[in-house]
Amino acid sequence: MPELPEVETVRRGLQPVLEGARIVRVEARRPDLRFPLPDRFAARLEGRRVTALGRRAKYILAHVEDGPLLICHLGMSGSFRIEQEGGSDTPGVFHHERSKDAAHDHVVFHVEPANGPPARIVFNDPRRFGFMLFAEGRPDEHPMLGGLGVEPTGNALDGELLAALLRGKKTPLKAALLDQRLIAGLGNIYVSEALWRAHLSPLRLAGTLGKASSKAHGMAGRLAESIRAVIADAIAAGGSSLRDYTHADGSLGYFQHSFAVYDREDEPCLTPGCGGHVQRIVQSGRSTFYCPTCQK
Ligand SMILES: [Zn+2]
Repeated sequence: MPELPEVETVRRGLQPVLEGARIVRVEARRPDLRFPLPDRFAARLEGRRVTALGRRAKYILAHVEDGPLLICHLGMSGSFRIEQEGGSDTPGVFHHERSKDAAHDHVVFHVEPANGPPARIVFNDPRRFGFMLFAEGRPDEHPMLGGLGVEPTGNALDGELLAALLRGKKTPLKAALLDQRLIAGLGNIYVSEALWRAHLSPLRLAGTLGKASSKAHGMAGRLAESIRAVIADAIAAGGSSLRDYTHADGSLGYFQHSFAVYDREDEPCLTPGCGGHVQRIVQSGRSTFYCPTCQK
């Protein structure tokens, strides 16, 4: 499943073509993805302009002038492909075929970008766990978006806030970090990576970071910094690639071999001077990778 850095990479790939573009026509080639497409899906978008392309957690949000907010989720295998006349080699714009997947091209947006030739933005999703929904009122009042925690990007997440979020929590630290009501969009891979960077065990009780000691303050500060850093590094590297995932511009992801602990069971820990080995354990039914020697 694409994690937040991949979703942000997709958003950045789509942004130059979609932001400011007029949606000329929408082809919905089936009535549903994971959920039914909204009533009058095409009619409510056609002829309108996309004023901004944002993101909240793993949702891509297209703000439509005088129209609904379009919420897109990539699910397990969803991707957007940009097709534009002229075969430009501008980053984020490409001319390439994925005809073998054409059966899974479910939604096609024909747009007139603010700059550049007309484009087709194709949503392809073999497994159909992705979805598109409308939000009518304020975004944070939509059931999918309301109650989401703080973004793990930017400066909002600091040690003080993280300590407050974890205070009194009697769950393992890993489980607390995966709780979307606390931090939104942090997934299995980057939780392992952030805990390794912060030298904190995924098994440690989350509440121990919320105590009023200087040791707890230090751990919370280190972890907040590590979370922001792993996400920022992954976005900078273009997002990780999980099997059939591709960038918005069609190129393959290239971050998958850069993980420090994730998927490195029995391999030497990369912490300088540690000498330990990465272990895999299962927490809440999902793999956790960590080094018991330097993560306490
Ligand atoms: Zn280690």
